[in-house]
Amino acid sequence: MESTELSNQPVLDRMSHVRRKVLVLSGKGGVGKSTVAVNLAASLMLAGRRTGLLDVDIHGPSIPTMLGIEEKQPGFENGAIVPVDADGIKVLSLGLFLRSPDDPVIWRGPMKMNAIRQFLADAAWGDLDVLVIDSPPGTGDEPLSVCQLIGSVDGAIIVTTPQKVSAVDVRKSISFCRELRVPVIGVIENMSGFACPACGTVTAVLREGGGRRIAEDMGVPFLGSIPLDPKIAESCDAGRAYIRDFADSPTARIMRDIVKSIEPAGPGAAASAAPEPAVAKKEKEMKIAVPVTGGKLSMHFGHCERFAMLDVDPGKKEILGRMDLDAPPHEPGLLPRWLADKGANLIIAGGMGRRAQDLFSDSGIRVIVGAPAGSPEDVVRGYLAGTLETGKNICDH
Ligand code: ADP
Repeated sequence: MESTELSNQPVLDRMSHVRRKVLVLSGKGGVGKSTVAVNLAASLMLAGRRTGLLDVDIHGPSIPTMLGIEEKQPGFENGAIVPVDADGIKVLSLGLFLRSPDDPVIWRGPMKMNAIRQFLADAAWGDLDVLVIDSPPGTGDEPLSVCQLIGSVDGAIIVTTPQKVSAVDVRKSISFCRELRVPVIGVIENMSGFACPACGTVTAVLREGGGRRIAEDMGVPFLGSIPLDPKIAESCDAGRAYIRDFADSPTARIMRDIVKSIEPAGPGAAASAAPEPAVAKKEKEMKIAVPVTGGKLSMHFGHCERFAMLDVDPGKKEILGRMDLDAPPHEPGLLPRWLADKGANLIIAGGMGRRAQDLFSDSGIRVIVGAPAGSPEDVVRGYLAGTLETGKNICDH
């Protein structure tokens, strides 16, 4: 993780004027995360919400182009940055401050984070009902640091495409949110089918439905499928929000339905402002796997006797229950799949080789290594309280 030597309080002070913070995430770039962020923000603004759009996708800050504001300069007032007005949406993008698109590529990690922290600390959003945040793609240090800087994020929307490879990314994004205690609002499958430019009828192209399946598997809401629609790409290039310009098209209706499904309904909705996370109850819980030998955490997870599976409520920092499962036969690559099938989100282990860690991560399971050989309950309680001391990964080969 990056350096956090500067105080985060100024960022939290700014964020205290924002009622809801919604993160738009994707496991990788190019799946339409920014497109979803722009159209979500436009839709919320058109519904009367005081809406901000923050683009911290440091490697591809495309929001200024998508909203036609590349030439606009944010204002500076009393030492603060005033967001640009994009037809009613308050927008700030790192892209508006970069001298060259190569800047972030050559910045070292801590420089990036300090730039983002400074940017967030200086941004004068004023009072907002909702801030849509276009996150850096992936589940690495950059989106992690952004979440930590912002403080409490109210919910995350995960964008994916229908291809199989994206399913792995969705699992990782869901696990990422669970680990950070960010409620998952749901998954959107983008570029799902092709919308005919003449009549808007959607035809299946790739193997659609992967987003829905993975959402169901992992117990999070599926929000809907947005087709590949040439007009979306044209709108992005023309710097206009599609949902505003093609409000009557079938694709815009699909987008509005998605936004509706994540908005609180009824009177007072406007005041409480947007994405009240339609979080599945399960989302508040997580399952932690601890390899056990002789009743204690096993230092060699691949040779443990059994796995203690502990259900926890991370919000309340409580252990809800424990079930022990006999370890499956020792076969290469089997354990991550087996534990994913059993619903594990996190494995806390003593030692684990790099390759095994990658396999777990590919199965959507986060890994903590170097934990002490205590009872599973003690280890998990330490994790929940933030006091788990991890030492050397004794099996880092
Ligand atoms: P990301 O933020 O995930 O990198 P973008 O939102 O920048 O992805 O989208 C990548 C490109 O795909 C953009 O040119 C955008 O216009 C286009 N695009 C995204 N979604 C769609 C869609 N449903 N139909 C057509 N083009 C799309």
